[in-house]
Amino acid sequence: MINYISTRGNGGSKRGAEAIIQGIASDKGLFVPDGLPSLTFRPEQKIGSDYKYVAFHVMRGFLPDFTDEELERCISGAYENTFEAPGVAPLVKTEKAYFLELFHGRTAAFKDLALSIMPYLMITAMVKENEQKRVAILTATSGDTGKAALEGFSDVPGTEIIVFYPKDGVSQVQERQMVTQTGKNTHVFAIHGNFDDAQTGVKRIFDDEAFAARLAAKGYRLSSANSINIGRLIPQVVYYVYAYIKMLEGGGVEPGAPINIVVPTGNFGNILAAYYAREMGIPVNRFICASNRNNVLTEFINTGVYDINRSFYMTNSPSMDILISSNLERLLYHLSGGDCAGVAGMMASLASQGRYEAGAAIMEGMKAFHGGYADVAETNAAIGRLYNEEKYLVDTHTAVAYKVYEDYREESGDTAPTLIAATASPYKFADSVAASIGLAAGDDGFANIKAVNAATGVRIPDSLRSLEGKELRHKGTVTVDGMMDAVLASLE
Ligand SMILES: *Cc1c(COP(=O)(O)O)cnc(C)c1O
Repeated sequence: MINYISTRGNGGSKRGAEAIIQGIASDKGLFVPDGLPSLTFRPEQKIGSDYKYVAFHVMRGFLPDFTDEELERCISGAYENTFEAPGVAPLVKTEKAYFLELFHGRTAAFKDLALSIMPYLMITAMVKENEQKRVAILTATSGDTGKAALEGFSDVPGTEIIVFYPKDGVSQVQERQMVTQTGKNTHVFAIHGNFDDAQTGVKRIFDDEAFAARLAAKGYRLSSANSINIGRLIPQVVYYVYAYIKMLEGGGVEPGAPINIVVPTGNFGNILAAYYAREMGIPVNRFICASNRNNVLTEFINTGVYDINRSFYMTNSPSMDILISSNLERLLYHLSGGDCAGVAGMMASLASQGRYEAGAAIMEGMKAFHGGYADVAETNAAIGRLYNEEKYLVDTHTAVAYKVYEDYREESGDTAPTLIAATASPYKFADSVAASIGLAAGDDGFANIKAVNAATGVRIPDSLRSLEGKELRHKGTVTVDGMMDAVLASLE
């Protein structure tokens, strides 16, 4: 029976439900499963299965403390009638790769796959664990998590959802999505700072025991909707298993033949979910970790040194403008064979020196990963190329992945069937997309959406189409030091 322990070794052993409520372990490490479940079926036997079926069989391996009925209720609540595309996550084949479109949910980015179900998992867990307090969910966002969390938790009983985003670090559409959010329990703040500042501020609040005691006196406990919460990661494993089955179904992949998986990476959650899918039994040759100009992960994969003492760049793939990729901590734990003291040491070094170096065992495991990056010009060129040559339109994040994959394929000669995680709708980043396909893009994101639609005929997601006329409801801007007060004020 799988339980959850801390990457740093001193967080006890928790049931899945407890780990989801808690969010982060008491020793400040991240919860990891104490063993990884295996698939209970062979993928080729499940050709034709729908998304919910795969979700049930993958998630029940990770959450054995949930009953089948509980899990089924969570899954149908999350995935029935909430995605615009049939099958939740369609697979699109182009000349060189398969794109897994993860952006047909309510907020038009892949975060919806996990954040549609996480509120159900959370309230189910609260009932199971007899949690008496209200849960205040703190979330730092680089743009997409915030909206998906707000949408998921809006008016969910027993919860308050509080989101911090970098004031100048998100796209116009992303900001508009968040500040127009309805729901009595939703709270949104811009911060003066970048995503790392927001994430560090949230972690600092989690670490403050006096603050936790104050909240407890008011009847609240804290949790997180970021991918530091294991309840975010587990649902993400599902779509990699689902995609592999779809690839078999299409006939381009032989049963048992390994594939490559390319993931545009920021906080390392999505690519870690792909790694978990391999550990469960999906055959993967290489994980290709694609970064933008904030290429700290490329360097780590190539040298074993993780070093954030470098410039931070704002790019046109803002959801990847991150230097501290939190979920890498989980991979370090797994690849080191569960060396918690080693992981704790590396994280202490990151906190004090801004860098750490991984040892031989970890770097041996990292050989399954290829790291590469693309700058803004290369990203835009990739959007143009894919559209002009194949009439397939991608957003900036997916374009980073495509460009890094093209380079990898060229350098390595590896032509194994390859899955690219398409993480956002092109309409979420319409300014860059419009310019990249040769349209005269101005500053008005909504005009650019219309221009891209007129030129390409690609459907605009309903949630983005209705955005322009919505009332602005959240106008607060705070400093990083003011985040704690903002939380208190939200819980009055
Ligand atoms: C969040 C996000 C990413 C990065 O995903 P991680 O799990 O943080 O690595 C990539 N693309 C888009 C569109 C995102 O919203």
